[in-house]
Formats: sequence, structure tokens, C-alpha cells
Amino acid sequence: MSLPEGELAGGCNCRAVRYRLAPGMRLPPYACQCTDCQTRTGSAFSEHMLFAEQDITLEGPVKAGTMVQPSGAVSTIHGCEKCLARIYATNDRNPGFGSLRCGTLDDSAKLEIKAHFWVASKQPWIILSPEAKAHQTQPDTSQGWVAFLTGPE
Ligand SMILES: [Zn+2]
Ligand SMILES: [Zn+2]
Repeated sequence: MSLPEGELAGGCNCRAVRYRLAPGMRLPPYACQCTDCQTRTGSAFSEHMLFAEQDITLEGPVKAGTMVQPSGAVSTIHGCEKCLARIYATNDRNPGFGSLRCGTLDDSAKLEIKAHFWVASKQPWIILSPEAKAHQTQPDTSQGWVAFLTGPE
């Protein structure tokens, strides 16, 4: 089954939760190499893409969990109640937007990472291309994020 132009689809590991992401406001996907992402994913880094929360349609048993970040911001993770795969997160400092866990996309290999954040805590065996857009930590403001992700290579 083919998707409408610009629409993305994905889901959890056990397929109890499926989602569609309609075309809309999205920022380019990025990799985060921070130690929090390493712990939360049990992996070396995470892949995120900011989107307008109104564009996502989920089906299945979605469960939410919250975490207070060091900044005091409350992050809410939405994932599958059965297999605990995480689909996306929201943040009370950035209402109306979600951060997709890009590896849950059916065609995740088609997404091109536009930047790497928290390269200072990157695993040493990961070698970034010299052309990769890399930030030692992360921009301080939302405007800084947008500028870094959408600015010139
Ligand atoms: Zn599941
Ligand atoms: Zn991170």
C-alpha cells in the first residue's frame, strides 16, 4: 500500500501501535549523541525529528510516561503499552510539537540526518563524516535549534 505524498508511517516492534504522520511542519531529522539518549535507547545515539503534534494519528495501546529534565522541563514519552517501544516525546516547554523517534518509521533508512548534537559525548567508535554538521553540545534556544538544522551546510 503506498502512502499519500509526504506522509510517513511507522509503529512499534510488536505492531500493536501504528501511526501515520501527515505532511506538515517538520524540522530536518537529527542524531543526538547525549548520554541521556544513550541510556534511554540502550544504544549509541537517538534519531529525532520535530513535528507538529496535530499531524500524528496513532492507533493501538499507547501509554505515556514522564521525566523531569535537568532544566526542569517535563518530557512526556508516548509508546506502546505492550512492547514498550517509544514512538515520540513531547515537552511542556514546547507545546504543540512532538519529537519522533525516527527508528520507528517503516522507511527509517530514507531519512537523512541533517545534524549531530552532543558530539562531545559521542561513542568513540562512531566516525562522523568531515562534512557532517556537528554541535559539541546543543543550541541554547529553540531559535538556535531551528537555525542549526535548517541553515547552510
Ligand atoms: Zn508494541
Ligand atoms: Zn540526546
